[in-house]
Amino acid sequence: MQKRLILKRGKQESLLRRHPWIFSGAVHHLEGNPAEGDVVDVWTAEGDFIARGHYQIGSITLRVLTFQADEPIDRHWWQDRLQKAYALRQTLGLIDNPRTNCYRLVHGEGDQMPGLVIDIYGSTAVLQCHSVGMYRSRDRIVEALRQLYGDRLQAIYDKSSATVPFKAGLHARDQYLWGSGSETPVLENGNQFLVSWEEGQKTGFFIDQRDNRALVGHYAQGRTVLNTFSYTGGFSIYALQGGARSVDSVDSSETATRLAARNATLNFGPEAPHRAITADVFDYLRNIDRSYDLIILDPPAFAKHHKALNNALQGYKRLNARAMQQIRPGGLLFTFSCSQAVSREQFRMAVFSGAAIAGRNVRILHQLTQPADHPVNIYHPEGEYLKGLVLYVE
Ligand code: SAH
Repeated sequence: MQKRLILKRGKQESLLRRHPWIFSGAVHHLEGNPAEGDVVDVWTAEGDFIARGHYQIGSITLRVLTFQADEPIDRHWWQDRLQKAYALRQTLGLIDNPRTNCYRLVHGEGDQMPGLVIDIYGSTAVLQCHSVGMYRSRDRIVEALRQLYGDRLQAIYDKSSATVPFKAGLHARDQYLWGSGSETPVLENGNQFLVSWEEGQKTGFFIDQRDNRALVGHYAQGRTVLNTFSYTGGFSIYALQGGARSVDSVDSSETATRLAARNATLNFGPEAPHRAITADVFDYLRNIDRSYDLIILDPPAFAKHHKALNNALQGYKRLNARAMQQIRPGGLLFTFSCSQAVSREQFRMAVFSGAAIAGRNVRILHQLTQPADHPVNIYHPEGEYLKGLVLYVE
């Protein structure tokens, strides 16, 4: 029997607007006893085909792969979708670019492959599956990637153990699906970074701050820079490149500060005016006495779910208030939120409340977002997650 999901009457509205998710509340019943991760056709109560996608148990019951009845999810489909993602990165100038060899090839819904992330680090592709369907499609993905890149790809690493739904009982293990590799320096706008997809956070590097790092570089000349939540030291390296007087990188993880120090040395030698400090940012900001005139706040997602929203907003307010109290007059504050559950307006309100607490004159110079290789599907506004403001604090 064909595997089908039949919607409740009238529940096709969001699909007609090409939104790629079906929530459990919209489902009337399932036919053909689909297993998690199966490709299932979606039919309206009136008996029309409307979409096809990966089925999963949970509040998002189906992630749409296609709205075309005549588009089977076969080898050809995978090749075609990956080719389209690749063509977009070609348009962006990211393919075979001598100054930048790490970029996001697949950004989930933004590339019409919901549940899948693929980051490219030189000759290694790192996969992160967020859905059972994508996890079960790995063979097809590997095959299509190899065909797309040929010799330019030496390894494909799967880093899905922390992202596939735990309840599905897949016992996912991070591992090479093809070839092998090791920690290697990658290039981003000519700067070198050591990236370890095996040990590092996420897929190894926060590619999504590329453009915002470049903006820090633009303003860094002669400034005393504090980069908080610094991880690999991404912003720090750009600040040094941009001629900062000195740069301090602060992270609570010693592994992270060690990495930032290694990256500073890798790019600018042991004499670089850089310090890597292992500390809690909230504590550190208490005693800096207006000694910095460019501060970066790039914390981890404070709200992983909508339930945590209020606490998250309080957290952003407190953090920003503290930085705005402590920055030197005429200083620049780069402040970010990568919480998907926090909207741009909510983030701005939290920063506004922080400014009011600090009682300083504050002007917004730039409103920042994620780079173009993290595209937002216009029908899926949830895909916009990175928000940033550059503030001039008098
Ligand atoms: N800005 C980084 C990415 C930041 S990821 C980049 O451009 O690559 C978030 C980092 O915050 C992690 O490295 C984590 O170790 C650190 N972190 C989390 N909570 C912290 C805290 N309270 N104080 C200091 N660092 C913290």
